[in-house]
Amino acid sequence: MRNALLILLLLGLAACTGEPVHQRQFLQFGTLIDISVSGVDARRAEAAFDAVEQLLAKRNRQWHAWEDGDLKRFNDALAAQPTEGVPVPPSLRRLIDDSKRYYRVSDGLFNPALGKLIAAWGFQGREQPDRALIERIRQDLPTMDDLRIEDNRAWSDNPFLQLDFGAIAKGLAVAQTGDLLLQHGIRHFIVNAGGDLLVRGRKSDDEPWVIGIENPFRGGALATLAMAGDGAVFTSGSYRRYYIDEQGRRRQHIIDPRTGEPATSIRSVTVLLDDPVAADAAATALMLTEPERLPEMLQRLAVREALVIAEDRQAWISPGWKDRLIWSDRIGPKPQPIGK
Ligand code: ADP
Ligand code: MG
Repeated sequence: MRNALLILLLLGLAACTGEPVHQRQFLQFGTLIDISVSGVDARRAEAAFDAVEQLLAKRNRQWHAWEDGDLKRFNDALAAQPTEGVPVPPSLRRLIDDSKRYYRVSDGLFNPALGKLIAAWGFQGREQPDRALIERIRQDLPTMDDLRIEDNRAWSDNPFLQLDFGAIAKGLAVAQTGDLLLQHGIRHFIVNAGGDLLVRGRKSDDEPWVIGIENPFRGGALATLAMAGDGAVFTSGSYRRYYIDEQGRRRQHIIDPRTGEPATSIRSVTVLLDDPVAADAAATALMLTEPERLPEMLQRLAVREALVIAEDRQAWISPGWKDRLIWSDRIGPKPQPIGK
């Protein structure tokens, strides 16, 4: 399974300025985590980086969709559908609550209850579809509403329900990383988790943080953006994780809950929101949104800015980014404005 690591390039960090930028890179959540901080000395930065590495290693174990940990054990217990329900591990509570919320807000497009179907398509390590299982699950597609929570216990009303937080866990990990950096007295930083970013403060007194958006067709920078303030910039794409199936079709990892099939029309979605958890969920839901429905969905998901690029190279852009993105490459026809 291919996984393009750096979706958004971090630009300008090497530029010589008064304020030093401290940086740490490590692998976690199946991707490269790259943290840059400024406004503090090296000792404080290194202590914070150590704490972040520890936290993310723990979260990855707890939230992994198919390796042993809190989520795998919870899914296995749920699948047995015990009448007394299954205790909800504290490490999963927020992911479950937020997933239920974004499931509703996205009108069902964001649906982390589809883990078993995602695995059947070959996106939990196998890389080939199990057609018979896919057909059985498609007869009765699970939803987040099939998961009932009462007094910290959970019941599943659908035997195929299995949680996969691949579209939201990185958002929460990034949010918790930002909180931890703040606790360490760091107020100026970029957390970059394989192209999903949380940006706070400034690079220096006279320089904003500058980020890049990758060209989803041929890599390299598509555009750069000087961040005007804090925010989470998240990207979902069909080019990041995919395989070629036995019929030679390209199958990417985002499943359309209306059909049970991998989505086919959108190449990439990049969004700016305040909250990284909401940004992660929104980017995934917008990968499944028809262009006519973009204005409504952006509003429902509280997206501040967005760039949507279709497989046929047509693109749509929100008014704020239309004025502020600096293009360094082009992909096709001029992006159309979203709404307004
Ligand atoms: P990335 O992994 O590139 O950050 P996303 O945030 O869009 O991309 O998450 C995609 C992952 O979410 C998939 O690999 C799968 O685990 C899971 N997933 C697939 N389809 C859906 C869906 N409709 N709703 C929620 N999660 C999904
Ligand atoms: Mg996502």
